[in-house]
Amino acid sequence: MPAIYVHIPFCKQKCVHCDFNSYSGLDSLHRAYVGALVSEIALQAPALRNSSDNDLSVSSVYIGGGTPTLIDPAHIDAVLHAIANHFSITRDVEVSIEANPETITLERMAVLKEAGVNRLSIGFQSLDNRCLQVLGRKHSAMQAIDAFNAARETGFDNINIDLIFGIPGQTIANWASTLEQVTLLDPEHLSCYSLTIEPGTVLEREIAMGLVETPDEDVQADMFTYTIESLRESGFEHYEISNYAKLGKRCRHNLTYWNNGDYIGFGAGAHSKMLNIRFSNIASPAEYIKSVESGSCIAEVIDLSIEDEMSEMLFLGLRKTEGINLEEFKTRFGRPLHAVYGAQVDDLIRNGLVTWDDRLRLTSRGILFGNEVFSRFI
Ligand code: SF4
Repeated sequence: MPAIYVHIPFCKQKCVHCDFNSYSGLDSLHRAYVGALVSEIALQAPALRNSSDNDLSVSSVYIGGGTPTLIDPAHIDAVLHAIANHFSITRDVEVSIEANPETITLERMAVLKEAGVNRLSIGFQSLDNRCLQVLGRKHSAMQAIDAFNAARETGFDNINIDLIFGIPGQTIANWASTLEQVTLLDPEHLSCYSLTIEPGTVLEREIAMGLVETPDEDVQADMFTYTIESLRESGFEHYEISNYAKLGKRCRHNLTYWNNGDYIGFGAGAHSKMLNIRFSNIASPAEYIKSVESGSCIAEVIDLSIEDEMSEMLFLGLRKTEGINLEEFKTRFGRPLHAVYGAQVDDLIRNGLVTWDDRLRLTSRGILFGNEVFSRFI
């Protein structure tokens, strides 16, 4: 059962740390882009049905970006209608949308709810105005809290809040204060990411020019440990390296990725994986619109080898705190995991980064050095 991802690549302004496929100043493309999305869904659905013996019923739709709530919510309604017309949607489908606080209003939320959206992911990033300024965010801490309350008032009962820690100049006390305020709002889910300096971003240039200090890795590690402990005390389950959920509120869509399941991406630069084929769309929104009009927007197709699939199962599955079921690996690939990755696993065990019983999973230390572990399986 594949998950569906829809990419809306528009933002009010580019945040300094962002290297996503997102653009500001393209408001004039919104309508044509949504038209292209609806066409792409109609174009791809029969091909996906014919080329796959998979069950094409869908139990999660994720509208990400960019800032999907920047565009007219009637456009989101049109996209969700197109999906419902071409795929079989389960009754309990999870329909998530990413939202930035400055785009959240009672009216907008009501239209989205009516359109079938039942999960919101709000990009707070911080509840400290100085940190928000460092990231180049367009909202204040108070606006973020007001946005959350407006979403609740509209009836959204499944809300994720996105946060970033390790922002230049941020102290542990400052991060602890953001976490405390956020948990008082009582969201169902939290995603807490350590700030990474991506090549080509404004933040990378600012750091290179000495305008902003480099985030301290030791402070980031302390913040990460504090996050895990503090959120556990507040009743959140730490189920993936960066994700925490109240009981029964894990993100179904993202679990599809970590479980190495199939997914179909629509929109500029969106990626898909069906069985052992991975494909991605043209990244530029204007080029994407043109290419859909001419009948195909796929930029790249990759056939995954068995080795690729084994590697993906490892580095995606290990992100989950429950790790990887060894029996599942053996059933899927016909070989025990240890026969393929014995040397790497033994070395990681020696270094206290993974444990091994009926599952292979990260230790508390391994969670802190996740990237080091994943790099051993790529
Ligand atoms: S709002 Fe999100 S997608 Fe847009 S620029 Fe900022 S971080 Fe990137």
